[in-house]
Amino acid sequence: MRLLEERILRDGVVRKGNVLKVDSFINHQMDIALFEEMAKEWKRLFQGKPINKILTIEASGIGIAAIAAREFGVPVIFAKKAKSINLDSDNYSTNIQSFTHGKVYEVIVSKKYLSSEDHVLIIDDFLANGCALMGLLEIVERSGATVEGIGVAIEKGFQRGGDMIRERGIQLESLAIIESMDENGGIVFRR
Ligand code: 5GP
Repeated sequence: MRLLEERILRDGVVRKGNVLKVDSFINHQMDIALFEEMAKEWKRLFQGKPINKILTIEASGIGIAAIAAREFGVPVIFAKKAKSINLDSDNYSTNIQSFTHGKVYEVIVSKKYLSSEDHVLIIDDFLANGCALMGLLEIVERSGATVEGIGVAIEKGFQRGGDMIRERGIQLESLAIIESMDENGGIVFRR
């Protein structure tokens, strides 16, 4: 998606450890007009799929997923980072390794909001090694719901997550795929 690629080139900052900072328009300050354009693009790409729910993960996916949910006219659920008090049989849970912090944390989704009747579109801001999305896929699998696809804003194509998901036969639509990036500001997109 050209609009997103241009914004990444203009305002994205490449940091050590293969981290792209997009705090000025996605991860801290949020550009809702841009999110709306992204949501429209996913609506076009997943046209014809019987999506009735969007699933994302706390915290950075929530803004994007909320705007996408509005475009699809469906509710959005976010997997919550678990506090031990939440750990009961009323939740689906899984462990996820954080790309940016390195720590493992547990996320939960209440069984009240996801069931075998649901057709889910998973949305997230970044795809790197795929741990976050694999965790969400596991939660959907446990619920018996159907994964209709995954929409990602920025995929770092030089990390393994994208291939892992495509190998599973899931429709993955990343709006910008970065082929390579370096700290001197060079960012190359896959087209
Ligand atoms: P993964 O689980 O695919 O390795 O990483 C995905 C999660 O890590 C995303 O939800 C995102 O929050 C975070 N993440 C991964 N790579 C980056 C990056 O380059 N920049 C930022 N801002 N977040 C990232």
